[in-house]
Amino acid sequence: MYGLMMDYPLTLAQILEHAYRIHADKQVTTLLPNGTLHRYDYATLYGRVKRLANALTELGIQRGDRIATYAANTYQHLELYYAIPCLGAVLHPLNVRLSPTQLAQIVHEAEDKLVFVDSAYIAQFQALRDQIDSISTVYFGLKSEDTDICYEQLLSDAKPTYTWDIRDENSALGLCYTSGTDGEPRGVLYTHRSMFLHTLAANQADVFGLTEADVVLPMVPMFHAMAWGLPYVSMFAGADIVLPGAKPTSIADLIADTGVTVAAGVPTVWAAVYPELRKRKADISKLRRVIVGGEAMPRSLIEAYEKELGVEICHAWGMTEMSPTGTLSKLRAGHQNLSDTEKWRIKAKQGRPIPGVELRLVTETADDFKVLPWDGETIGELQVRSPWTANRYYKIEPTPEHFTTDGWLRTGDIATIDREGYVQIVDRAKSLIRSGGESISSIALETALLKHPYVQEAAVVGVPNEQWGERPVAVVALTPVGAVSNRTDADISDPLKQYLALEFPKFWIPDRFVFVDKIPKTGVGKSDKQTLRKRLLSAETKEKLP
Ligand code: AMP
Repeated sequence: MYGLMMDYPLTLAQILEHAYRIHADKQVTTLLPNGTLHRYDYATLYGRVKRLANALTELGIQRGDRIATYAANTYQHLELYYAIPCLGAVLHPLNVRLSPTQLAQIVHEAEDKLVFVDSAYIAQFQALRDQIDSISTVYFGLKSEDTDICYEQLLSDAKPTYTWDIRDENSALGLCYTSGTDGEPRGVLYTHRSMFLHTLAANQADVFGLTEADVVLPMVPMFHAMAWGLPYVSMFAGADIVLPGAKPTSIADLIADTGVTVAAGVPTVWAAVYPELRKRKADISKLRRVIVGGEAMPRSLIEAYEKELGVEICHAWGMTEMSPTGTLSKLRAGHQNLSDTEKWRIKAKQGRPIPGVELRLVTETADDFKVLPWDGETIGELQVRSPWTANRYYKIEPTPEHFTTDGWLRTGDIATIDREGYVQIVDRAKSLIRSGGESISSIALETALLKHPYVQEAAVVGVPNEQWGERPVAVVALTPVGAVSNRTDADISDPLKQYLALEFPKFWIPDRFVFVDKIPKTGVGKSDKQTLRKRLLSAETKEKLP
């Protein structure tokens, strides 16, 4: 028997319409490249989003077309976040930190029809443009040039009214690429329904907990897993939004000047900004909460924020494939009497699944599959399912490496879960190094290195780094060509770095090259990275492995 309730599609248009009708006067503030603040209200944003939808239609954009953005967190990017999906097209934010070669591959795979470029990135965009020159480009913040389309001109020429018409909540809304373990990009294609449900779940009181009284600063880039859903979560809640633009000179000033109450970003950002915030303690008194994820937030930093600044840290774990929120670490009522040390120990865990997310810990071999207990000690692979988790990658047939036959996503994260449901990530089964909240594929670097005439064997491992979380170190055994006796290590590592820089972004290039006679192997003949990591750590900064 079916119930008798409306079949009301869960779409982004409902979020936008609600934000406009109920919170029209709420503010969107953007830090411009010249250091001034641009402000307007939701009503203005709404009017511009409608014009933008008309302009895109005039440009021939149709339902299902993919439209790329190459942009920082700005009001124009926020307008695109709404206009593109609400007219039925697919928003595809490009990670501006990737190399032009990597991005060109992604743009071609996505078959983007148009790319919107932030003028702050215009110089670095040129190298990509050369590789995707068949795709039309629209620039923000620039006057019209002969061949380029100017964003403001587009808006002022467009009709002001537009009626949204997305009937199927399962239509695609956005496409974000994540780095596969092999370095090949993998597209995650969100739907209106998945993002709507993620928006509701992520804003439960025990999750992000944003209210209409909040002023929200997403430091997480809009190209990283849809800015953790914050553009949608914030506007559904009716919170003011502060966008930091391409190059915020002082995040502490921005927080103080705009009265930010909740900010979100990777640990690297919060580690870097901490001394500045400490100096301006009195001016950042409105800041009540920082949401941190993308990589593990060190316990000492959680303690520093909570004890020294009085700012609550909400440590979250997720993945691009999960829209991205999976767990969030908050203390339970029963923890209030614990010692501070014990509280920070719990908060440094990745947290409990948010409502709607199902987790399991699994150990699996070719002929054995076991779901493991939640005892805080047993270690297994974390698997997940939820209404906002991908069930396959864009244009790739689902494989058992990523998705189980009974419908779970393999996260590639190795974890424990305790009796209260707190997840603690202890390792990563996937060959990815996390640096500043971004993934680096060790396999892709190794494959490239092996093509160099100096390199016989290569293993790239992540070692802990205070500033970035992890940094790659390349361990290399040289060929006779590379091992010419009068060459110094720098004579070899410098050309190897330059060689990798042709293909990979700067932050992928290993900080150090360590040369060995032979790379240690595991029983099945793979590079023994655990041993290498241990040896690198014990050798500290020494250039030779013991
Ligand atoms: P991405 O899809 O780029 O957001 O990367 C997702 C991966 O980042 C996860 O599978 C984890 O390996 C890692 N990650 C995300 N959040 C955390 C966290 N709080 N602690 C440790 N690792 C994290």
